Amino acid sequence: MSVWKQKDQENLWHPYTQHQHLPDLPVIVKAKGVYFYDEDGKSYLDGISSWWTCCFGHAHPELITALHQQMQELDHVLFGGFSHTPAIQLSEKLLQLLPDNQAKLFFSDNGSTAVEVAIKASLQFFINKGVKRTKILALEDAYHGDTFGAMAASGLGLFTEHFKDQLLEVVRIPLPTCDEVVKKAKDLLDTQEFAAFIFEPLVQGAAGMRMYDANFLSEIIQIAQNNRTFAIADEVMTGFGKTGKTFASNYLSVNPDIFCLSKALTGGMLPMAITSFTQTIYDGFLHNESGKALLHGHTFTANPLGCAAAIAAISLMEKQETQNQIQWIHQQHLQFQSEMQRHPKVENVRVMGVIFALDVISEDKEYYGNLRNKMYQFFIQNGLILRPIGNTIYLLPPYVILPTELEFMYEKVREVLTII
Ligand SMILES: *Cc1c(COP(=O)(O)O)cnc(C)c1O
Repeated sequence: MSVWKQKDQENLWHPYTQHQHLPDLPVIVKAKGVYFYDEDGKSYLDGISSWWTCCFGHAHPELITALHQQMQELDHVLFGGFSHTPAIQLSEKLLQLLPDNQAKLFFSDNGSTAVEVAIKASLQFFINKGVKRTKILALEDAYHGDTFGAMAASGLGLFTEHFKDQLLEVVRIPLPTCDEVVKKAKDLLDTQEFAAFIFEPLVQGAAGMRMYDANFLSEIIQIAQNNRTFAIADEVMTGFGKTGKTFASNYLSVNPDIFCLSKALTGGMLPMAITSFTQTIYDGFLHNESGKALLHGHTFTANPLGCAAAIAAISLMEKQETQNQIQWIHQQHLQFQSEMQRHPKVENVRVMGVIFALDVISEDKEYYGNLRNKMYQFFIQNGLILRPIGNTIYLLPPYVILPTELEFMYEKVREVLTII
């Protein structure tokens, strides 16, 4: 074992990791484009854009330049009592991209906090009004993050079950794929006990890239809004082009009230998140009493470097070249989908934008089960980073991927199906 690996084992505690059975981890020393390189010079193709963040490829020169320039002007300034141009410029740019009903942006540091802010603001909106609305409506198997509010809104399971007695009051409905679920949602929402309805629009990421139709979701959002329940689109995973449109909510026929953004927001360069709100919600906090303000914040709120990276990342996303790549990846995925649909070991082959997913037919659907671990190890040994979720294999390549590199990913999927 290398010295770095040894020191890692001595000192570090990794996320989502049972260290009892962990093989030593590759130590990555460099990243460029779609590749990582470890200390021995082995390359790994980043097939999931490093947890759905580095969509424009690693170490993109335009992101580096933007950061380098920003660093020399203003590194960090507290956002309570001060403002700065990178945050203001980013807000203008982002509000142009978001639906028209979005008016005010609140910064935080990661996807979980973006969700915390959305939930906290929804609850406090009603507290400020003196109206009792304490429940949250959510979807089964959702994933909204690992902090307590975000955990509460997530589905019950491996990640949340230890804490289920210590969470906010959340009622869950199945994925909206039929009229029965809409009916169930209506019965709940019509009680007017719900402050918010939170969902991952069209694709539930961590649940295993579960995809669902826009129509039933639009109906539920409409019902929520008729009852003055706020619709929170958690676009932390889906945002910034992954579904083929800027936001997955662009496929809906009604606009959500709140958006949670993070992950690809800075092109994976720095941790940052934004929760965006309608004017109505913002206005619900204006009052002579300072206690009715949204008394929430994080030390690194609106860090100027993060803002500069986000501005550059959005410019990259808007380039025709990037849009063409997204469309091209989508077309390639559709071809691979029709091939995989005929594969005897595979079911539920699905594609949305640059996201491709399939389920391996198996009894072993455990999140970190034997099948999953075997597939994961196969990919790693072959220099490909894919993290199957239970029996689901998914691909979410950076937009800059080349034809030979995408074909390499497909080939490794074909191969893994021969060894399981
Ligand atoms: C990843 C994710 C989160 C949590 O984001 P973190 O930055 O990991 O806290 C929340 N919601 C969705 C949909 C996500 O995919």
